[in-house]
Amino acid sequence: MAMVTETTGLATFERRMTRVRDDLRAAGAGAMLVGPSSDFSYLTGHDAHASERLTLLVVPAEGKPFAVVPRFEAILLGERASLLDVHAWQETDDPIAIVAGLLGTAGGGFAVSQQLWSTFLIGLQAALSGRAWQDATPLLRPLRMVKDESEVALLREAGRRTDVAWEAFIGEPISGQTEREALARLTGLTTDQGLRVNWGICASGPHSASPHHHTGDRVITEGDAVVFDWGGTLEGYNSDVTRTVHVGEPGAEFRRVYDIVRRANQAALDAVRPGATCASLDAAARDLIIAEGYGEAFLHRVGHGLGLDVHEEPYLVNGNDLPLEVGMVFSDEPGIYLDGRFGVRIEDAVVCGPTGGERLNEATRDLVILA
Ligand code: ZN
Ligand code: ZN
Repeated sequence: MAMVTETTGLATFERRMTRVRDDLRAAGAGAMLVGPSSDFSYLTGHDAHASERLTLLVVPAEGKPFAVVPRFEAILLGERASLLDVHAWQETDDPIAIVAGLLGTAGGGFAVSQQLWSTFLIGLQAALSGRAWQDATPLLRPLRMVKDESEVALLREAGRRTDVAWEAFIGEPISGQTEREALARLTGLTTDQGLRVNWGICASGPHSASPHHHTGDRVITEGDAVVFDWGGTLEGYNSDVTRTVHVGEPGAEFRRVYDIVRRANQAALDAVRPGATCASLDAAARDLIIAEGYGEAFLHRVGHGLGLDVHEEPYLVNGNDLPLEVGMVFSDEPGIYLDGRFGVRIEDAVVCGPTGGERLNEATRDLVILA
């Protein structure tokens, strides 16, 4: 993750902290405890470093938020003095004791962000025994899921730059390259667009039938379907795109499966509107694939929320009756996987608008045939 304050001003973080304090009071909790994570970035705009040295953000229900951080990293939070107080600890201090001392007099229990390391949580629970502890996820989920304008703008721009990288990538042949080499060229083009790339998948030939294939040294050859699934971050916000190409002229079944997946991707998009359930988007794509006879080959949910994390809520999966809201951003990624033969997946990011879904990716969904 990168710093998120280039586009997002401090007033935005103050607004988010205020909302957390209101929610803490409503939940009867005394403070929220947040370790280095996307939650930390969301609340402060600071990309805190997770390590064996404790860094902890504390948002009390009453009073000013504060962070307890290693002395030599305290300077990184200096520009946020209006947002939070900084308590720096020296290498020989016990940071758990410092946190316990600062929290000891505050009333109520604690809501803990899901990404605080267990070693710190167990230490805090021992030092603050007798207090109530709860998962902060139910408090943070409604905030994190619904993106504000600055977040949608960053997600849109990250998506656009990823599309530009793809359009450049498909201008050259890939036959004869290993999966690793082809992916390196694609992620290089994405980095050239100013995105930070942390992951990617290239799955060729029979590997394309494995949705989370580990990219390897298989040489891409004529007759292969090749799935590329990758993304990058812009000021912490992720793109996540999948495109499937064919090397050389495809057979009739590949063309048919490609067409079904493309229509399923469109069907899920067409089902997006405020109030529609997450499950209904999965069903829109899945019903079409089932009707075409490939229901058993659609191995995963149709999508996941996208933001500071690549996978976050809401999850577009059967059984999730959560209604969509304007500002939710998620992937639309149906796929068909024929074991030992080939797979096809097409993935775009989508934002829920007042009247329907808007794609954040417009890299071509036409079947691309490469040499
Ligand atoms: Zn993806
Ligand atoms: Zn995805």
